[in-house]
Amino acid sequence: MKRAEVAPLAIYDTLSREVREVKASDSKAVRIYCCGPTVYRDAHIGNLRTFLLADLVRRKLEFSGQKVRLVQNITDVGHMSEDFEEDKMIAASKAERRDPYSIAREYEERFHRDCRALNIKPADQYPRASECIELMTEAIRKLIEKGFAYRGEDGSVYFDATKFESYGALSGNRLDALKPGHRYEYTEVGAKKFHADWALWKGAGDRREMTWETPWGRGFPGWHIECSAMSLKYLEGKVDLHIGGIDLRFPHHENERAQSNPLIDGANEEAVTLWLHGEHLLFEGRKMSKSSGNVVLIKDVVDRGLDPLSLRFCFMENRYRSQMDLSWSSIQTAHNLLERWRKSYQEWLSHAPEHSVAVAELINAISDDFRDDLDTPQAILKLRSIERSELSAGEKRALFEALDLLFGLKLLELRASKELPDEARTLIETRAQARINKDFKRSDELRDQLAGLGIEVRDTLRGQEWSWRTN
Ligand code: AMP
Ligand code: ZN
Repeated sequence: MKRAEVAPLAIYDTLSREVREVKASDSKAVRIYCCGPTVYRDAHIGNLRTFLLADLVRRKLEFSGQKVRLVQNITDVGHMSEDFEEDKMIAASKAERRDPYSIAREYEERFHRDCRALNIKPADQYPRASECIELMTEAIRKLIEKGFAYRGEDGSVYFDATKFESYGALSGNRLDALKPGHRYEYTEVGAKKFHADWALWKGAGDRREMTWETPWGRGFPGWHIECSAMSLKYLEGKVDLHIGGIDLRFPHHENERAQSNPLIDGANEEAVTLWLHGEHLLFEGRKMSKSSGNVVLIKDVVDRGLDPLSLRFCFMENRYRSQMDLSWSSIQTAHNLLERWRKSYQEWLSHAPEHSVAVAELINAISDDFRDDLDTPQAILKLRSIERSELSAGEKRALFEALDLLFGLKLLELRASKELPDEARTLIETRAQARINKDFKRSDELRDQLAGLGIEVRDTLRGQEWSWRTN
């Protein structure tokens, strides 16, 4: 097959259980939706592995000249805790004795900061659940009208799972095999018709905070309807690729598919073309959980003097579809390697970049590894080979400059971020945010402040880059 006919990326699609090409359903951009964080706590590095997956997809598509539109939601209402008792935001609000919105905004900001530390490009939009209530009630109204949803005896609105014929196709669960009382769908006995039905809208009961008035009474949205309503609104009725961690396959994505398909116009059409699920991250052999006390945050990595991009490197050394076990020693090894590569790059800088045939071939081979269901371990092996290869310094320079766009490891910066004083790091992050907000006056002021600390910032196609001033 000729190169031009091949899509720039193929991934394993959970629904068809096949590796399939990622394509834009219109001629403009590949429309991607990635389930975002629930902002009642810091995202741990496992969550970030999943968010990085969306970034790898995006970088590969853009590297190959394909436009991308990425939307990631911020869940600040409706995500019930595993013991069904309470909304995670409300529980955090009680524990911290703070307004749930102030908690949500703080952790949302920290989520953006952590993504920047991993050099994850910002999504095009980050809709918040609490600001999309109308979208959700409109979607629920349509589902009732089309006969897919009904009002329960407890004032909640439920999706009627039996009405969606292919329920279970995504996760492999069969409706008749689902046991009553499965996790996440606690309701009062008798309120819904069938045990596998789930709440689209929950009646407020005694709850006062984060509730809204609707034609079905006061209440708050269920978690799954949020992603259907937002993805279809912000990606204009069609999702080419939907991304999330493997735990979201059921019930979150299964339910989302059942809600979204009836909401689009074409009968029997899929609202989401491809479903991509990332496997979980373990840390030192154990699942990361609060109860086992082994939750690792970006802050923990930085506090140990390690470059957070070492995590990015470790994640790419493993295939997204495999469970991965991370340890402090592997992060340290990656940190040392990145430091060495950055120093080597500075040495190659005295040579002009040399765009030889060998360089083009290696770039193509690495790009093909990414294309092949994100085979980043193979791509990393090839990246590793560059430093000690027979290639000239100019060729090595050209390779690092081209490939840094794809790997996102900031190989062209002189020093790892651990050597930045805290004050400078904060200024750089604030400046990145100012640029996202298009506040260029503030961004110029921050540039001057950084210059005062001996740090030079440049705005490139890759985003903001910095280095120590040499004179
Ligand atoms: P949450 O903030 O809990 O809604 O989770 C955000 C994302 O992180 C979801 O896509 C989850 O599937 C994903 N996730 C949760 N735990 C892990 C883990 N240990 N490794 C990788 N991804 C995870
Ligand atoms: Zn979601």
